[in-house]
Amino acid sequence: MARVLRVARSSSLFGLGSRFYSTSAEVSHASPFLHGGGASRVLAKDRNVQWVFLGCPGVGKGTYASRLSTLLGVPHIATGDLVREELASSGPLSRQLSEIVNQGKLVSDEIIVNLLSKRLEAGEAKGESGFILDGFPRTMRQAEILGDVTDIDLVVNLKLPEEVLVDKCLGRRTCNQCGKGFNVAHINLKGENGKPAISMDPLLPPPQCMSKLITRADDTEEVVKARLRIYNETSQPLEEYYRSKGKLMEFDLPGGIPESWPRLLEALRLDDYEEKQSVAA
Ligand code: AMP
Repeated sequence: MARVLRVARSSSLFGLGSRFYSTSAEVSHASPFLHGGGASRVLAKDRNVQWVFLGCPGVGKGTYASRLSTLLGVPHIATGDLVREELASSGPLSRQLSEIVNQGKLVSDEIIVNLLSKRLEAGEAKGESGFILDGFPRTMRQAEILGDVTDIDLVVNLKLPEEVLVDKCLGRRTCNQCGKGFNVAHINLKGENGKPAISMDPLLPPPQCMSKLITRADDTEEVVKARLRIYNETSQPLEEYYRSKGKLMEFDLPGGIPESWPRLLEALRLDDYEEKQSVAA
């Protein structure tokens, strides 16, 4: 069970090929969403999910992908984190990247695929298998490269209204010591024109992190708006691409983590899986 096949064919694009894995048909059954009926639940040790999180900047891809990664025991790989690590390393790419990132633009497909490739290779050396990708693919070209080298089981498309996204990005903070993310924004969007109200409490840091909070350089209003515009232009076609392949799960976030997390688990049919995990813990 849960046999994972390494992709035999290698990608001619950017030398990516062998660093991705393809799941066998059995492993595909690990995605309860795609296989309906509830009969195909498998144990965590038997699943090597290959999931992608899509959604605008600030929607919460990192938050939910990271929680699912802990629950399912697969790595959460955020290409934005890989870019920030590269920026912090002051390596040869760093200056070139900082100009792009600070204007809210996308890094070239070649650079991002190379960073992801290196991350997967390092994970492979540590015995990782499966992944939850966050922030990749972001262009049709990236989606095609990914599709050439592996089978994605499920694409979760997280959604929030645009005004909430801007406030959430502006409220984002990270503790520069423990690395945890917080949000100081109070979101209170009234329901109108048939759209539900959305309220989110801030996710405040504990006292020991309070004086160590930093804001991402690209979380300014101007850059956030540029990132949202670029997302709409270059990333939204991905939704149609994955929808046409029957892999897209749309998920309108109903509020903050307390409301959204249980509903997301329900949508993924992982709700009783989480209960079993916490009982076993
Ligand atoms: P994020 O944390 O996902 O918002 O990413 C931060 C920045 O990293 C983005 O604004 C882009 O400049 C860059 N980036 C992250 N992922 C990608 C990607 N898949 N393709 C191109 N650029 C990316």
